[in-house]
Amino acid sequence: MKDEDLRDLNLPGYEIPPELAGQLAITTLDRVYNFGRRSSIWPMMFGLACCAIEMICAQAGRYDMARFGMEVMRPSPRQSDVMIVAGTVTKKMMPAIVRLYNQMAEPKYVVAMGACASGGGPFKEGYNVVAGIDKYLPVDVYIPGCPPTPQALVAGMIKLQEKIDKQSIKHVRWYDGKKEDSVAVAIPYLGPDLIDPRRIPEIKAKSMELAQPPAPAAEA
Ligand code: SF4
Repeated sequence: MKDEDLRDLNLPGYEIPPELAGQLAITTLDRVYNFGRRSSIWPMMFGLACCAIEMICAQAGRYDMARFGMEVMRPSPRQSDVMIVAGTVTKKMMPAIVRLYNQMAEPKYVVAMGACASGGGPFKEGYNVVAGIDKYLPVDVYIPGCPPTPQALVAGMIKLQEKIDKQSIKHVRWYDGKKEDSVAVAIPYLGPDLIDPRRIPEIKAKSMELAQPPAPAAEA
């Protein structure tokens, strides 16, 4: 750990003697825990459309996400901390994306990069496009733009770091025993259209209603 990192960890209001600055910090468990996680957010390596090109640029030398510990893109959901949904989410891709999300270990985060992932973008209402990844997955940060620039992606990831900074080891769902918060997201079926299994009771009720014969007209 660098000297300046240790100074960042020190809580305000606790003076450290100058000769010990850079060697000692008075801090909380939350701050150390969050510092470790926010400094090593490993994104899952996949892209869906044009936004992915900007994500690739953000990883290259000019923008260099390695400065934030985010350069280790993993080809496996088991080793990833954040899913950056970069591009147009087609209905065909949706079951695979949900399956990958379910395979990520907690703590896990989702970033919706660009107009398509946030709400369908220019293809909203298209027959083959999902109008936002948040129809299925819990999104932590939305990044506007079509496409967002690499700087916007870096800014979004810094927002995610700020969110992590506010979490407490006492309340995060992966430690406090609230297992119901960590249940897998139901994987949608791809038939003639995309079917969300969570909406099957509602779909059945509507189908039954439509299948009822029309009521006979009242006699005059
Ligand atoms: S938001 Fe724009 S740039 Fe990004 S995937 Fe959609 S159309 Fe492409």
